[in-house]
Amino acid sequence: MKKLYSPKTIKQIQELYGFKFTKALGQNFLVDKNFVDKIIDLADVENENVLEIGPGIGTITQSMGEIAKKIVAVELDKSLIPILNDNLGAYNNIKVIQGDILKVDLGKIVAEELGSEKFKVVSNLPYYITSPIIEKLVTADLPCQDMTIMVQKEVADRMIADEKSKDYSSLSVFVKFYSTCQDKFKVPKSVFFPQPKIDSTVLKLNLRVYDKEVDKKLLFSLVRAGFNKRRKTILNSLSSIINKDDLKEILKEVNLLENLRAENLSLDDFIRLAKAIENHY
Ligand code: SAM
Repeated sequence: MKKLYSPKTIKQIQELYGFKFTKALGQNFLVDKNFVDKIIDLADVENENVLEIGPGIGTITQSMGEIAKKIVAVELDKSLIPILNDNLGAYNNIKVIQGDILKVDLGKIVAEELGSEKFKVVSNLPYYITSPIIEKLVTADLPCQDMTIMVQKEVADRMIADEKSKDYSSLSVFVKFYSTCQDKFKVPKSVFFPQPKIDSTVLKLNLRVYDKEVDKKLLFSLVRAGFNKRRKTILNSLSSIINKDDLKEILKEVNLLENLRAENLSLDDFIRLAKAIENHY
């Protein structure tokens, strides 16, 4: 196996292919074998199908290729494709696809490459599009079991925060609705090349849909409206969605005080509120 996690190998690749890092694509590659192994251990990919987002030069991909059943890796940067093909060409269980994860038809890719078999997501995510990628994956209605993803530490804190904590946000409610966090670990900035300014966290999220009956569009519009004006009471912040008189009545019905703020409401509270609003009209 080529030591793709070695800074020396990365420098050789840069010289050989003329590859230049693109900051705007969130290109910070892992250069520490221990952390590559830790991610793969947590993801638990032995004999499993994997969708990897942003393989870079194939560092995590190559190690997973030794044990996984099949890996589909989607990379946006065209200049990395010949590098990936050379680094991973010996693995007939790895398929590299050039494309933007936010634009590709994931249903089609998964159906073509993995049939209807279940799969896992593994990714050191490009941080500039963390939320849209997570949103696309959890709402795609695909047989995805879990996601082991590396994100910016502060974003991870927000994703798994509980109500009343300072990090609790609309992202926390969204992530809770679609997943439970099984485990996590911190990753220092020193294990990347080039070195970013921020630390990271790897999260393993097991996917679920918390409530199949609730109107998700209404639920998340309430969540967003509440947190967009998080210093305001819910009576005021949610009045952009529903008129105040009706809202007063509904809040009483679901036993929520008018002067609470979005950060005081649990996922269950938001769901009860959305259902009561739906019933009201
Ligand atoms: N997996 C490699 C590693 O851990 O060393 C690279 C991770 S790097 C943080 C993120 C990768 O995502 C880069 O290779 C970048 O080119 C790629 N990327 C950025 N935007 C993307 C997008 N929209 N779709 C697919 N890949 C993308």
